[in-house]
Amino acid sequence: MPELPEVEITRRGIEPFVDQRTITGVTVRDRRLRWPVPGNLDAILRGSRVHAVRRRAKYLLLECDKGTLIVHLGMSGSLRVVRAGSPHGPYDHLDLDVGEMALRLRDPRRFGAVLWHAGDPARHPLLAGLGVEPLSPDFGGALLHAATRGRRAGVKLALMDNKIVVGVGNIYANESLFRARINPVVAAGRLSRERCERLADAVRATLQDALAAGGSTLRDFAHSDGSSGYFQQQYLVYDRTGAPCRVCGAPIRRRVQGQRSTYYCPACQRR
Ligand SMILES: [Zn+2]
Repeated sequence: MPELPEVEITRRGIEPFVDQRTITGVTVRDRRLRWPVPGNLDAILRGSRVHAVRRRAKYLLLECDKGTLIVHLGMSGSLRVVRAGSPHGPYDHLDLDVGEMALRLRDPRRFGAVLWHAGDPARHPLLAGLGVEPLSPDFGGALLHAATRGRRAGVKLALMDNKIVVGVGNIYANESLFRARINPVVAAGRLSRERCERLADAVRATLQDALAAGGSTLRDFAHSDGSSGYFQQQYLVYDRTGAPCRVCGAPIRRRVQGQRSTYYCPACQRR
C-alpha cells in the first residue's frame, strides 16, 4: 500500500510533467474506483491549466483553473508518466493527457479515488478533518503531548490517528516507536512531554529517511514503462518477527494491536 513517502515521491515525480501544463484530454476506462469517477471529467478538465501539484496526507491535489482534482492511490494504485495514447493494460483506468505525455492511473484493486472539487480542497469532506502534516513545523512533541492527554489506547494507535497527525501508517508507526525506544502499547496519555518530543523527532526522521530512499526512483517516472512510485526499504522492526534487533540483537516480537501487526524489540522498547 502506498504510504505517505510513496505519495510524496509520486508528487515529485509527476510534478515536472504536469505543473503549469494544459490538460488536453481525459480518458476514463473504468469509473468504478472507491467512489465513481465523475463522468464529465473530460468536459471539466480539457483546456484547463494545472497551477500546482500538492499533497495533503495521502491525497494528491492537482489544482486547476476551476477547482482541484483529488487523487488517492488506495491500496494498490500508482501514477505513471507515459506517452499519450500508448497501449494500456487492464488496470489502467484513467489517463490525463498533457500534450504528448499522459498521467496514467493504474489500480488493480480499485480502492483508489479520482474526485473533482470546485471549491477550496481543504474543505472537502475527505480532507476537512485531517490532523497536521508530520513534516510540517506544526507537528512536534507539544502537539503530540496535548493531543494524547487522557487517551488510554496504545501510543501506536494515537500515532496512526489521522485526526492527530496524518500519513503515519502501520510501517512508519512501528519504525518510529522503535527509534524513539517507546513500547507501542504504552497508554498514549501517559507519555511525558520529553518522550513525545523524542517520538515526534523519530517520526520525522523515519519519514525523511523513507523519502531519501525513494528519491532514487524519481528519474524512473520519465521512463517509457514508468515507475510505480513504490520502493524497497530496510526496516528496523517492521515485518522482522524473530530476526535480531539491529541495535541489541534480541529477537523482534510481533503482536496484534487494533487489528494490525505491531513489531517491537522487547529489550529496546521496555514498558
Ligand atoms: Zn533491541
